[in-house]
Amino acid sequence: MDCIFCRIIAGEIPSKKVYEDEYCYAFYDINPQTPVHILVIPKEHIASADGVNAENSIYVAKIFEAIPKIAATAGLANGYRVITNCGDDACQTVKHLHFHIMGGRKLPENMG
Ligand code: AMP
Ligand code: ZN
Repeated sequence: MDCIFCRIIAGEIPSKKVYEDEYCYAFYDINPQTPVHILVIPKEHIASADGVNAENSIYVAKIFEAIPKIAATAGLANGYRVITNCGDDACQTVKHLHFHIMGGRKLPENMG
């Protein structure tokens, strides 16, 4: 298994867990870009948003059910941003679908 996020799910690489259920795993980003920076990943390997289809979209639905709980736990009552980078132009570095939950301060209006 050469996918770093699959290895985090398997417990082979340590992570700071925030939330876990049958479908997803959430943990703190190792290189936070905002005061709160959490990653949520599906427990099935999906390479990116481009790999979502009718067979695996339940993982995305379940992730978005989990996000409000994760945000509440992390103290993001004032708002947060959910981002997924897909492919080279978006600078996706880890090829396992992940959603960044970012907040803890006012974020810039410009998104790109
Ligand atoms: P992206 O650029 O959207 O592919 O984001 C990948 C993110 O994964 C980056 O924000 C990295 O800091 C983060 N990351 C990479 N390796 C780890 C790790 N072992 N534990 C936590 N976060 C990681
Ligand atoms: Zn993976």
